[in-house]
Amino acid sequence: MMDREYDVVVIGAGVGGLCAAVLLSHWGYKTLVVESTDRLGGRCSTEEVEGFKLSTGAVALHRGGAFEEIYREVGAKLDLVDMPHQFYRIGSIEGENYEMPAKGAIPAMLDIANSLETNRAKLLGHMAKEVAVGKVMNFFGRGVRGEEKADDITFRDWLAKYTENEMAHKTFDSMVCNVTSYHTYEVTASEMFALFAGMGTYAALGISPQGNEENMKSLAKGIIIEKNGGDIWVGCPAKRIIVKNGVAKGIIIEKNGAEIKIPSRVVISNVGPKNTVQLVGAESLDKDYLDLVSKLNPVGMILVHVASDRPLCLEDGELGGALLIGLRRLTSAFPLTNFSRDLAPIGKHLLYCVGSPPSYLETVNLDEELEQTTLDLKDQFPEYDKSGKIIKFEVVFQDLPQPGRVRIPRETPVENLFNVGDGVQELGSGGTSAAAESAREVAGRVRKSIKL
Ligand SMILES: Cc1cc2nc3c(=O)[nH]c(=O)nc-3n(C[C@H](O)[C@H](O)[C@H](O)COP(=O)(O)OP(=O)(O)OC[C@H]3O[C@@H](n4cnc5c(N)ncnc54)[C@H](O)[C@@H]3O)c2cc1C
Repeated sequence: MMDREYDVVVIGAGVGGLCAAVLLSHWGYKTLVVESTDRLGGRCSTEEVEGFKLSTGAVALHRGGAFEEIYREVGAKLDLVDMPHQFYRIGSIEGENYEMPAKGAIPAMLDIANSLETNRAKLLGHMAKEVAVGKVMNFFGRGVRGEEKADDITFRDWLAKYTENEMAHKTFDSMVCNVTSYHTYEVTASEMFALFAGMGTYAALGISPQGNEENMKSLAKGIIIEKNGGDIWVGCPAKRIIVKNGVAKGIIIEKNGAEIKIPSRVVISNVGPKNTVQLVGAESLDKDYLDLVSKLNPVGMILVHVASDRPLCLEDGELGGALLIGLRRLTSAFPLTNFSRDLAPIGKHLLYCVGSPPSYLETVNLDEELEQTTLDLKDQFPEYDKSGKIIKFEVVFQDLPQPGRVRIPRETPVENLFNVGDGVQELGSGGTSAAAESAREVAGRVRKSIKL
């Protein structure tokens, strides 16, 4: 084998890319990861701003799924502070945190939606439109793992069969946005049943106390990847995937201003199906596949980091996150400095919130999103106006499968070229777990078909 020849090259050092690379390296494959930025982790990394360690995307990492299992399998350290509590806040009731019961969070919230509706109805002299909690829960309780159907109704339409209670709809919308980045009127009912059955609404979660990149570095550590001749090159964008006679043969990268050819037996792409198509070139792919990938519409997720002198949310230092219900944009808040003081300069607090623009099918106006997000912060967190400051606001666009419309397989029409990452997640999965699951499945496939 030539010096610069690898069994496997992985494009992109996101969760999916690193997980696939670590497993293959662990099993003896000579593996190279190339990453275009100078950071490891992609949307699960860390960016330093004004002395704060900010997440580039994920904060609540799932315990007990493929992500954690891969760390265990390769002997890497996953440093997480557990999040034992989950809270929720309801838009119109400023500043109140309610703890979610350990079990039965959904029926508990539906009961609250009922009592709010009853109070509102009393005030307006109307009949309360109560949710048939038992009926709704019965359906979830059966753990339906539905098949995805093109003509499936949306989750909102499904819920509307049981209730018109707006608070119940808003509760589910916040949950669904957090887990999928889509609204209840965009996600199919079968996707939601699969999600609730597969992950549970609130899986066990943990926060990286030194920022996500430290955990990514631990996964990538030389002793794991380099023992079998592997490497990670950052600041090295892949420019092209080499395909000959329908088979992937390696990649062309840019390193120190020069283009270098890296031959390999397998190419794994972690850059999302659309970017993979661009790296391969349309001439090596069939029309059906190109048509399918071209249907993907990026879905935006709002990410806002707020610095403050005093805690803004879960002010007593609770180790929890808050589901935000019924706001303009924001759907959850995590007071990160409650978990780790190392994420902020001394004496400062860091709140991380996420939310969703109104629809992934509409053009996102960043000024409008910032304005609506700021109004949410002002309304929800009374201290925000006194000492809060947005230190980073972003709408992160993601090429995710579109429930009921587009789901891209991990294998591609090119032999020995695979996609990993949440762009090729399965029905009922999401986030870092989904990215890790895809990596484990693809790495397993490579292990079966490519002999050392
Ligand atoms: C705002 C927000 C909040 C989130 N919150 C959570 C959460 O709390 N919990 C959770 O589990 N998940 C969460 N997620 C989802 C989670 O971040 C993603 O599912 C996961 O990080 C995706 O990983 P990935 O494997 O798809 O790779 P990505 O993160 O997409 O990484 C791809 C990598 O490829 C690199 N790359 C791109 N092009 C090239 C090229 N040509 N050559 C080389 N490298 C290239 C990129 O720089 C990047 O590093 C959140 C996402 C967002 C946006």
